Amino acid sequence: MEYILDDPKYLVLHHFVNGKIGATKEKALVVATKKLNPREYHYVVYSDGSWEGWQKEGLVAAHCGADNQSQSRCGAHNFNSIGVCCMGNFEKGPMEEKQLSGLLALVRDIVTRHGIVPENILPHSAIAPTACPGKYFPLLEARQAADVPLVRVAINSDQALVMGRPDKMPLKLVLDRGHAVAPLRWLCEALGFRIVFLRDGGVVEVRKKFS
Ligand SMILES: [Zn+2]
Repeated sequence: MEYILDDPKYLVLHHFVNGKIGATKEKALVVATKKLNPREYHYVVYSDGSWEGWQKEGLVAAHCGADNQSQSRCGAHNFNSIGVCCMGNFEKGPMEEKQLSGLLALVRDIVTRHGIVPENILPHSAIAPTACPGKYFPLLEARQAADVPLVRVAINSDQALVMGRPDKMPLKLVLDRGHAVAPLRWLCEALGFRIVFLRDGGVVEVRKKFS
């Protein structure tokens, strides 16, 4: 049973967990998987940066759950989203440059054609209890490719958008002698840095996060 996908509003990102087997073997794996699941995703991006269609864009793919789960929150996303799957396990490590540039080109192409706003580029994990597409997946880059502002705040407001999601700053953003002044800790954390406040010296440091 095929369902029409009319005017998708979201782009949902997935990974296809496999070892580092190279693009040729990945393609063979996809051919085999397609036979079993012909409607799994709309696109697959290989580790060499090439990509190809899996399901037609105008039809629903079952990338957020099976068709018969359409009443559930995750299944419902099948009916309003394009599913893009990247070969590799991005729970284990980051995406390599070749694959990343292929993914970003594909994302730009899809969002431009469908008018999908950057905040509607979602990791599968945002809509279902799954690790997919992995903690190292380049979600930030995918959203930036669609020109999403990292942080957006109006002057004299504390209402912010962080990566497209509403957030509230502890203080309002104000203009002071031509400079936009925002709470440093909040801003750094929103941008993925951390603040170290050395009470002894009365010093504040901005540092990169590490795990
Ligand atoms: Zn997924």
